[in-house]
Amino acid sequence: MVLPIFIYFTLITEKVKSDKNRKVIMFILWGISIIFCMSFPVSFGQNGRLDLRIIPLLLGSLYGGFLPCIFLSAIIILYRLYFGISIGFYNTVLVLLLSVPVILFFLKSFASSKKDKRVKIVVSLSFCYGLIGLAVSGILRGFSLDYLKVQAIYLIFVVAVTFLFTMLKETIREIQQLRSEMQNSEKLRIISELASVFAHEIRNPMQVTRGFLQLLNEPDLPDDKKKYLQISIEELDRANEIINDFLSFGKPSINSSERINAGYQLKRVVNIIQNYSLNHNVELKTDILENCWIYANPQKLNQSLINILKNAIESMPNGGSVWITCTSTDDGYIKITIKDQGIGMTKNQIDRLGSPFYSLKESGTGLGMMISFQIVRSFKGKIQVNSEKDKGTEFIILFPQIN
Ligand code: ADP
Ligand code: MG
Repeated sequence: MVLPIFIYFTLITEKVKSDKNRKVIMFILWGISIIFCMSFPVSFGQNGRLDLRIIPLLLGSLYGGFLPCIFLSAIIILYRLYFGISIGFYNTVLVLLLSVPVILFFLKSFASSKKDKRVKIVVSLSFCYGLIGLAVSGILRGFSLDYLKVQAIYLIFVVAVTFLFTMLKETIREIQQLRSEMQNSEKLRIISELASVFAHEIRNPMQVTRGFLQLLNEPDLPDDKKKYLQISIEELDRANEIINDFLSFGKPSINSSERINAGYQLKRVVNIIQNYSLNHNVELKTDILENCWIYANPQKLNQSLINILKNAIESMPNGGSVWITCTSTDDGYIKITIKDQGIGMTKNQIDRLGSPFYSLKESGTGLGMMISFQIVRSFKGKIQVNSEKDKGTEFIILFPQIN
């Protein structure tokens, strides 16, 4: 039982990137673990075998999902068949028939729970399995005092070991998460350092070029040349804007927060992005409350909203609508939602959202979401993302409201 857990955290999380392969490997490891457990049981009475197979079955199912649960149960039945058909075999099948539906029932709530609740679910399930096992084999073989004693000890033992292993797995998982967060923040630090160095080096020659271009612009110049000069200057300004955006997450310290109206800022942002959305055949529908006071820096807030809005528009290559709302909630938050009907994201993609350079677009930078998340967090805000593949995505941004 130790083997799958340690192999998972030492080798698989680093080496195997695809979710599907991970699931298959984990299924095989838990399967082997089950076979080991069943090969070394504690025997009691006639054909009575007690072992810890429930633990790999439970962990494999809860962390793996529906199919692993079914296949792991199949492994138990097939391997038990190998020992011959006896009362014990029927016992096994009956217990599984009764307990697997219970496990399946808890799959969803387990997946969406935090550590403490997960431990509770696993422990209750193993207790439940123990009770079912006690009842079924009691009915098949008859109850006796000795039998009850053995079963009671078994039950306590199984529950305790389940608790230990689940704690182990969850704790290692937490450590793993912390590690990847640290790697992420290290990446961020390097990017922001690089960004500010590059930006300064590039800006200077650009300013000089811009100045000389302006000098070239004399009144007697032919019209078409004047136009070229104009375009050159505009393009330089655009490049400068991009550098400014890039810089804005390099220096989080100089941003000064003030009391601002998020509704008013959101309206401004919608105006700025209107042209862009028209070019993409996207209609912006707004429902924005005027009095939404929060504590933030307006430029930064706007930038994060623009990044999210741009993504929403870009997610609809064939056009569509984006709904933009701003309201205040009963529990003291200003809630901004941006909802599109675009390509959507899988759960995996949502998880990776906001990590540096994560982009699925051909000419994407994969920085927009990272900057937005960082900005929202720096104003004590929260971002939730709900998305369904091919249906659309909803960003919900919450800021603490001030009066
Ligand atoms: P970029 O837009 O340059 O690709 P972002 O950090 O802004 O970088 O976004 C990262 C990725 O997240 C995008 O490439 C896209 O795959 C996904 N994404 C972000 N917002 C949405 C959305 N509203 N709908 C679908 N996918 C999205
Ligand atoms: Mg983007």
